[in-house]
Amino acid sequence: MNTIVVLGAGYAGMRAAKKLAHANLDARIILVNRHPYHYEATQLHQIAAGTKEPADVTFDIRKVVSPKVEVLIDTVTGIDQEERRVTLEEHEPLRYDYLINALGFESETFGIKGAEENGWPLVDIDTSLAARHHLEQTLANYRNSHDPNDLHVVVCGAGFTSIEYLGELVYRMPKLVAEYGLPADQINISCIEASPKILPMFSQKLVDWAVGYLKKKGVEFHTSTAITEVRPGAVISNDQEFKANTIIWTTGVRGNHVIADSGYNQKRNRVVVEDDLSLKDHPEEYLIGDISAVPDPESGRLFPTTAQISIAQADTAAANVIARVQGRPTKRFTFKSIGTVCSLGPHVGVAEIDMMGKWKLKGAVVGIVKKIVNDRSVLELANIRTMLEGN
Ligand SMILES: Cc1cc2nc3c(=O)[nH]c(=O)nc-3n(C[C@H](O)[C@H](O)[C@H](O)COP(=O)(O)OP(=O)(O)OC[C@H]3O[C@@H](n4cnc5c(N)ncnc54)[C@H](O)[C@@H]3O)c2cc1C
Repeated sequence: MNTIVVLGAGYAGMRAAKKLAHANLDARIILVNRHPYHYEATQLHQIAAGTKEPADVTFDIRKVVSPKVEVLIDTVTGIDQEERRVTLEEHEPLRYDYLINALGFESETFGIKGAEENGWPLVDIDTSLAARHHLEQTLANYRNSHDPNDLHVVVCGAGFTSIEYLGELVYRMPKLVAEYGLPADQINISCIEASPKILPMFSQKLVDWAVGYLKKKGVEFHTSTAITEVRPGAVISNDQEFKANTIIWTTGVRGNHVIADSGYNQKRNRVVVEDDLSLKDHPEEYLIGDISAVPDPESGRLFPTTAQISIAQADTAAANVIARVQGRPTKRFTFKSIGTVCSLGPHVGVAEIDMMGKWKLKGAVVGIVKKIVNDRSVLELANIRTMLEGN
């Protein structure tokens, strides 16, 4: 009997395990994940800002996967491709005939001095909760310290995660000000970005609307401002200094460090795969989600790292493993985006939707669209009951 091992129970791994289970293969399917729960990484900014609780964005993996899938809770420490073995922190090594590797993303510091030590990344539930507690404690501390920097927050980067975090932060800040009795006029929220453009994936009109909305809520944007160092209490850009006792580090992501540790040919822990998502010299191995680097034949660039693409890749990888077990040819990965939604707090946002026509949306309607997107994702990974319980 073949053993199929799936690593990581994020968007890609959960979806792949679900698809494999539906195929009724005569195979052992093992899903390995560090935690017993799945978390919706697309909502981590809400945990970090304190507008959602971990229970709102997590579910128990064992409760939703098919009984055909064995769930093993452990941390993967390495992959021996020649021996087809996964090494784990607490269990004996796992041997596989097919591997679907979906170990996901980590924070990217681009080697900037002090970023790791002094910035708060949002990469999982623990780091997002830590960022939230630091923010709350620092604001509360102002009453004793009267240090103006306790009221300053700097968000590093102006991509998706940064902008969505800022949206939640400006939504919650008035409540924090009231709760801790803070001087509202001394709260300072800055966003620092190396590139001249914010949210490069959106049309200029929508970007202008999003920036205008956040500026009205008090956010200061500093574009074309490359961060050169992060110190305790300050972000440095050449000769400029942005003082803040809360520094959120959301400049970008790289793949999981297990990739480099295991000796893969990688760049920023992402591995270029074949057009069927398998590895060139190891056709029994598939890399999907944020650890895979898949060239988009249309744009000539790599597909971006998104949950939407991770789920689509999981469908292709699972179908290809099933095809190989059954002795059929594999198929190419193709992807048609249904659009991009960026929330600016729980109730508004901007979106470009490519479904039944092309739509450019802004304002409250996007709050509803975002909710539909989140619900749909839970449905794709788990089931309708889990989706309803999350509402
Ligand atoms: C705040 C935020 C907002 C976002 N918004 C959007 C959005 O609106 N739309 C969109 O499409 N994308 C969005 N993204 C990007 C999206 O979340 C990622 O592209 C997606 O999570 C990648 O899925 P994945 O399955 O590859 O990895 P992950 O979601 O990172 O899952 C990896 C899994 O592997 C587990 N794991 C990691 N290391 C180990 C180990 N050593 N051993 C065992 N298990 C391990 C992790 O615990 C996790 O369960 C957002 C990301 C963030 C951070």
